[in-house]
Amino acid sequence: MTHALNTGGDRGYLRIATEEAFATAEQLDAFLKLVKEGRADKATTSLWGFYGTSPSERTQFIRDRLLDLDDLRIQAMDDTGIDVAILSLTSPGGQAFETDEAKTLVRNANDVLKAACERHPSRYVGMVSIVPQDVQWSVEEIARGKNELGFKGVMVNSHTKGHYLDEEQFDPILKACADNNLPLYIHPQSPPDAMIAGMVEAGLDGAIFGFGVETGYHLLRILTTGVFDRYPNLTVCVGHGGEAIPYWLFRMNYMHQAGVRSKRYERLKPLNHDLFHYMRNNVCVTTSGMACPLAIKLCIDQLGEDRVMYAMDYPYEYVADEVRTHDNLDISAEAKKKLMQTNAERVFNL
Ligand code: CA
Repeated sequence: MTHALNTGGDRGYLRIATEEAFATAEQLDAFLKLVKEGRADKATTSLWGFYGTSPSERTQFIRDRLLDLDDLRIQAMDDTGIDVAILSLTSPGGQAFETDEAKTLVRNANDVLKAACERHPSRYVGMVSIVPQDVQWSVEEIARGKNELGFKGVMVNSHTKGHYLDEEQFDPILKACADNNLPLYIHPQSPPDAMIAGMVEAGLDGAIFGFGVETGYHLLRILTTGVFDRYPNLTVCVGHGGEAIPYWLFRMNYMHQAGVRSKRYERLKPLNHDLFHYMRNNVCVTTSGMACPLAIKLCIDQLGEDRVMYAMDYPYEYVADEVRTHDNLDISAEAKKKLMQTNAERVFNL
């Protein structure tokens, strides 16, 4: 069903898009330099070797739109009826770089985003990007993000050089998110060299598959290592329909409990709750790049209607009919308002 896409809530809800990307020229130049000098991992070489240099119309569109935080973006939001965009620095943020370079670049990007939010206060909300390579710096940047920049969430692009947030050295980052009452959004990047195997050669390293399995793996580690027993008030968000975890959840939950009972695995310890509990109380998933009614309804059925939020994934995805797919979902008006508006308002404390 086709209908006009207006901002302003004429369908009974505002549309808040929760996983919307921007880049800085400094960041894109740094990606290219990393690739050119052979310092990037396989995934970054594959992805930014392509996005950074391909002359195709689509990649040029994405580069231009990533860098724009004013007229093009606001026009695109008006054209697709997006009232508010929750913005974050595009993947892999600063996580592919050496620590000092990453800190300069990410701090500058956070300042760029703050200025954009100030220019468009009714349309943009920011998430603070961090550099997990320097845990203490990241803890301070999370506090600066909340207190000085007015940001409403923390963005991490999954693994940091093959390391995962459930590892002990990253605990202060999780604690800072919980203490500052900011949701942690784990956005995909491609798998680390230790995991990527033949995916590049098969053309499966990026958004087609690599992103999803790597980020789903990251979320699963957070679930099974007891992060939410340590921080019961922490909220973790993942995109793309929960990176397949909602679909797999029954079997994962069963096998996790079987693994604990078998005592074969040192790392599998009893948790305070089953995996369903954490997915329904600590995790939110967004619909970025997953405008599929069956998949969205599965997420709502598995996690509850308070746990699923709309995202477009602009500018990587910019298809007006995907907004209409959400508008036309066969769910109650109340559930739709939660999906499109009020869950984001609650999670990001807008
Ligand atoms: Ca994205």
